[in-house]
Amino acid sequence: MISGAEHVVVLGGAGFLGSHVCERLLADGHRVTCVDSLLTGSLDNVAALLEQPGFRFVEHDVTRPLAEWPDLPAPDSILHLASPASPPDYLRLPLQTLRAGAIGTENALDLATRHGARFLLTSTSEVYGDPLEHPQSESYWGNVNPIGPRSVYDEAKRYAEALTLAYHREHGTDVAVARVFNTYGPRMRVDDGRMIPTFVSQALTNAPLTVAGDGGQTRSVCYVDDTVSGLLALWRSDLVGPVNIGNPTELTVLALAERIRAATHSTSEITFVPGAVDDPRRRCPDITLARTALGWEPRTDLTEGLRRTLEWFTRVVPTTPSTSAPERRRLTENAHGQ
Ligand code: NAD
Ligand code: UDP
Repeated sequence: MISGAEHVVVLGGAGFLGSHVCERLLADGHRVTCVDSLLTGSLDNVAALLEQPGFRFVEHDVTRPLAEWPDLPAPDSILHLASPASPPDYLRLPLQTLRAGAIGTENALDLATRHGARFLLTSTSEVYGDPLEHPQSESYWGNVNPIGPRSVYDEAKRYAEALTLAYHREHGTDVAVARVFNTYGPRMRVDDGRMIPTFVSQALTNAPLTVAGDGGQTRSVCYVDDTVSGLLALWRSDLVGPVNIGNPTELTVLALAERIRAATHSTSEITFVPGAVDDPRRRCPDITLARTALGWEPRTDLTEGLRRTLEWFTRVVPTTPSTSAPERRRLTENAHGQ
């Protein structure tokens, strides 16, 4: 059980989710070493943290031995978020994604075992593949195509879970596994290709919203602050897991596109594009375990989460002649209560 101030190593800490984790840990009084190769992340995400005395950034690829770091203070905990996570990212980086889940996870587990540190793996709802059970609880084993294009991510995470549990059983390593469902919020890359940043940037520039397939597939999206609270509640606990961390409010991709279009007062059309190979048809977490064992559940509804997300995207989406930045700000400010 984590109680006092710790030295926490956050692998993948310059990414979308990792940068919010680093920020929260620092705010809670911990020292943070952020390790990132900047493969899909950016130093901009942690620029504000570089000024803080408890924060250190190390540029390093976790698929190389972590012992290569100079003068690394002993970690009390290691949170492993280092992996491409957006489908377009992992589809263009298949081998690096497999290596981050396999070699990266083993390097991190070795370091945790050597220092007696608590290790937390950010696994994913993708371990359930295109699920045959709905909603998905942790006891469901999943339905993953092991040789399809998405397998580089899904199987890397499934292997990472297996490796984490094997270290726990064989070496007694203190581990936890979080299965994170779709998370959104500020600092997602505008071009990262996931549905929310794509729809938001399209809506803000009045470009067509590209809904894949018939848009009837579902996702359950969780605002980043809630996901971070869930991850840190699991980290602070003695639980091994796996534990689902996600928002159980399910909606279709088409409905989400329409919500974003309305919230931005956009004139964008909705256009249907070919669906992705092996795209899961339904996805919704059963969070009974997180609720009962961690006392955690999401607190931010979609209206509020989108409002905060739009505030951020309005500042970073490149200006087009049709919608200037001040105009977009005015429009998204009007989105309160949508
Ligand atoms: P992201 O791409 O923004 O962040 C991943 C970070 O890991 C980036 O900063 C990247 O540079 C870094 N990285 C990748 N490979 C690395 C390597 N070999 N060595 C060092 N750093 C490396 O993605 P994200 O959405 O922030 O996801 C973070 C983690 O959470 C991932 O492990 C992902 O699988 C998991 N996750 C995220 C979601 C989500 O909806 N955001 C859902 C499920 C699981
Ligand atoms: N999607 C879409 N248009 C886009 C990007 C994604 O319709 O421009 C769909 C995608 O095919 C999937 C859903 O949105 O059905 C969620 O995709 P995302 O990449 O956000 O995450 P996933 O849950 O697939 O990892």
